[in-house]
Amino acid sequence: MPQPDTAFPRELVQPLLAGGYLSDTARDALLAVLPEAAGALLEAFAAAADAVRRARVGSAVSLCAIISAKSGRCGEDCAFCAQSGHYATAAPEHALLSPERIIAAGAAVAGQGVARFGVVASGRAVPDRELDAVAEALSGIAALGLAADASLGVLDAGALRRLKAAGLAAYHHNLETSRAFYPAICTTRRFEDNLEVLRQCRRLDIPVCSGGLFGLGETWADRADLALTLLEAGVFSIPVNFLNPIPGTPLGARPVLPADEARRIVIALRLLLPDRHIRICGGRPAVFGPDAALAPMAAGADGLMVGDSLTTAGASVEADRRGLAALGFTGV
Ligand code: SF4
Repeated sequence: MPQPDTAFPRELVQPLLAGGYLSDTARDALLAVLPEAAGALLEAFAAAADAVRRARVGSAVSLCAIISAKSGRCGEDCAFCAQSGHYATAAPEHALLSPERIIAAGAAVAGQGVARFGVVASGRAVPDRELDAVAEALSGIAALGLAADASLGVLDAGALRRLKAAGLAAYHHNLETSRAFYPAICTTRRFEDNLEVLRQCRRLDIPVCSGGLFGLGETWADRADLALTLLEAGVFSIPVNFLNPIPGTPLGARPVLPADEARRIVIALRLLLPDRHIRICGGRPAVFGPDAALAPMAAGADGLMVGDSLTTAGASVEADRRGLAALGFTGV
């Protein structure tokens, strides 16, 4: 297919700059051209994504951090995950941390200018007997002036209500990939189970942060399907993770995504989801290299998870803040 000229991306994003979304036709055109775009055309796409971000949120980047409050021994078989009990990995294992310890970690983050702090637990769902401790932790985090977020698996309405009453600001639950590709990634739960969590949150008026993991072997059609499902689900924030292959997991031998392809994914997500936070999370040093780990921010992202990921250490918060400032962004 001949490459269109560099005016094409600018024309494509006009409705986005005016506050709208891509039409079905424009979306198909984007997905036909962006994966193979080269040279000046690819740079024009990146500039278009950046222009949409600037028009929507300016130079602000939403910063968040997480704590792995409960790690390992998970009964699910997500093929990428170091914490699944189905695979032999070197991931740390520990029971739920005390509320005091979680709140102390939140206080450290609050002192570094990070606005959101997420409590993350492995497993299908945090059991009822642990909900009081999580609720106490969320209350303490909220009292620090942080947005108290949580990622605790497939919770039911009763559990979500309890956490909301305790101060839950947003619930995180990734869909991971498209509905069609999901069974190749996880067989112990259904895509529909995950989607129902998002719907449940919406019914309860709990803002939802949900995204996925890229580099699993999914196609561009899978990526577009995931983006559209998230758009329709009404999520406000989309975590973008890149596979960091973990030895011992079924995806342990997969190659890391080339940085160039990861950048195209960020561009595509910004254009498909113009008014949502595109939040760069796990895997960025593995894909972009430690010295260029903020590179995806210039491709239209406006959110960043700082500090450690669940099972891998990250750069210091201060180093990321300095890096963002050097690129003209302000962490908020
Ligand atoms: S991604 Fe979550 S649900 Fe899946 S195996 Fe890992 S900890 Fe369990």
